[in-house]
Amino acid sequence: MGSSELRSPALKLSIDCPKLTPAASTFPVAASNYYQLDELLTEEEKDLQMNVRQFMEKEVAPIIPKFWEKAEFPLHLIPKMGSLGIIGGIIKGYGCPGLSGTAHAMCFLEIARVDASIASFFLVQSCLAMLSIAQLGSEAQKEKYLRSLSKMHKVCVYALTEPNHGSDASSLSSTARKVPGGWILNGQKRWSANGSFADVFVVLACNTSNNQINGFIVNGGSPGLKISKIENKTSLRVVQNCDILLEDVFVPDDDRLPGANSFQDLVKALSFSRVIVAWISIGIAAGVYDACLRYLGERKQFGAPLAAFQLNQEKLVRMLGNIQAMWLLGWRLCKLHDSGRMTTGQASLGKAWITKQARETVALGRELLGGNGIVTDFHVGKAFCDMESIYTYEGSYEVNVLVAAREITGIASIRPTSRL
Ligand SMILES: Cc1cc2nc3c(=O)[nH]c(=O)nc-3n(C[C@H](O)[C@H](O)[C@H](O)COP(=O)(O)OP(=O)(O)OC[C@H]3O[C@@H](n4cnc5c(N)ncnc54)[C@H](O)[C@@H]3O)c2cc1C
Repeated sequence: MGSSELRSPALKLSIDCPKLTPAASTFPVAASNYYQLDELLTEEEKDLQMNVRQFMEKEVAPIIPKFWEKAEFPLHLIPKMGSLGIIGGIIKGYGCPGLSGTAHAMCFLEIARVDASIASFFLVQSCLAMLSIAQLGSEAQKEKYLRSLSKMHKVCVYALTEPNHGSDASSLSSTARKVPGGWILNGQKRWSANGSFADVFVVLACNTSNNQINGFIVNGGSPGLKISKIENKTSLRVVQNCDILLEDVFVPDDDRLPGANSFQDLVKALSFSRVIVAWISIGIAAGVYDACLRYLGERKQFGAPLAAFQLNQEKLVRMLGNIQAMWLLGWRLCKLHDSGRMTTGQASLGKAWITKQARETVALGRELLGGNGIVTDFHVGKAFCDMESIYTYEGSYEVNVLVAAREITGIASIRPTSRL
């Protein structure tokens, strides 16, 4: 055999592994509801959850591993996502569904159980950009933007992070300078999800007249708005994260968010999205557990299914215990949010602790699948890689811990006060 034959892409061996079901052929049954926690949900919340589960298992699970490998977004699914009736989540009016926090959380649990990139896409649309417009925008802005965004006729970006300001987001370098009739934006943004195909950009920048962070709505295609996709990601590969360059981008007065006058205004809008990121982690962990339970029943070693080995059983039970505890804390956070009592620290502690438990849970799952734990075919490898981003975005584990610690102790330790 010549070397050219060895390199031929057509040469694909068919190795017989008949009893292992790939996630793209049938997504595993949801088995992680061990303590029947769904009894804490209303009938409407359960119905919505089942509806989203069906959509994800039927439309997304069969195709998403290939899109993940190619690092592409399944744009053809956007109209179907829009017709689910969940975009805009807790926002009332303007074509949005006005869901309870718990109902919206159940949607994210089901989306992330199948794919964390699609969950992140929904997060940016529903809980970051749209919620910022709903909470900080004028009546006219809400009418103009929220209706089309809630149907996904338009897709949005939330551009806070910059190349030199990630955790230190309150010190943004991007500037907004007042000119007659509007504002001129200059600066750079990093990681902005959906940037390569979005229509509406919520951009945060520092007002040069008072050094406060302000919010602006920038329309896609505006002169001076330059976008390039971040390549070579090892996590959330379906999400189109982008670098954005703002070069003298003009934003009319009508598109400045009147309620976004300081970093604190923005943080308020971010508290609920932190709860939802926690729920994305719960969904990821649940999907991994479900996949592991099936896989361990199907694969045999030493003449017995992997599920028969005590060490594997301990890992499975630890994963399930984590998921039940994460679910209960996530549910409580939603209840506190819905009754207007959730504090910033509670949201941050929830995000930090739940993502930490989820990270442990998916790592155990990856171990349980052995070599197959690092391929996308059985779901776990993809979820394991994706979990890393969730641990870091919406404030890293450390930053959220420090936000909670500041609330508990009254002492802020996030910014060093002196050099050694
Ligand atoms: C996949 C993905 C999608 C994203 N999508 C968006 C988006 O759509 N829009 C957007 O605006 N941003 C987005 N982000 C950015 C994200 O919010 C930031 O990555 C995150 O806030 C962390 O910032 P950083 O990456 O610059 O890390 P850094 O701030 O450089 O932190 C590096 C490490 O230092 C630690 N650290 C930093 N400061 C402290 C401190 N004071 N005390 C203790 N430890 C500290 C951090 O916890 C972390 O472990 C996304 C990021 C990722 C990875």
